[in-house]
Amino acid sequence: DNPALDLKRYIRGIPDFPKPGILFYDISTLLRDADAWQIATARIARAVAAWQPDILAGIESRGFLMAAPLATRLGLGLVMLRKPGKLPGETVTLNYDLEYGSDSLQIQADAIKPGQRVVVVDDLLATGGTLAASISLLRKVGAEVVGASMVIELSFLGGRSRLDVPVHTLLTYD
Ligand code: 5GP
Repeated sequence: DNPALDLKRYIRGIPDFPKPGILFYDISTLLRDADAWQIATARIARAVAAWQPDILAGIESRGFLMAAPLATRLGLGLVMLRKPGKLPGETVTLNYDLEYGSDSLQIQADAIKPGQRVVVVDDLLATGGTLAASISLLRKVGAEVVGASMVIELSFLGGRSRLDVPVHTLLTYD
């Protein structure tokens, strides 16, 4: 690691995406830089390891990009939380409300062994709706959710206060 390296330099804000008036925080500029990506995953892995998880859960789809290198670094397996209809076999679904409309996430029914310590991983924490739903879904299948880890937190949206698990984020925008 190079502690002086400010990883915010590798995140760009793209105005009016996906809709007018929204500033989208783009992590692709972090992902495509070999050194910055290496350092980011190392820093996040250190925080996640402290929770002593048994397994990681990644949220479709940018959460997969985080969960896979973290799992490899920590010597853990990972499970996928996916949009409906993508996972084979028996699944468990959670429907949740968004600001406008609703959405769903699925997990394979046998993905988690009862009581396994799970850390849930995504790229960005905004309102916290996606993460809150993911935590509920993991609990439905018997997980003990011991933490949540994201690269970016938009703290002005107050997502963290909606969550009842410890949260680690690498970069905060307020
Ligand atoms: P929330 O449910 O916390 O409001 O929104 C978080 C979810 O929306 C995450 O799954 C994240 O991938 C996506 N998201 C919302 N805004 C952004 C953004 O500005 N940049 C990125 N990379 N993802 C976003």
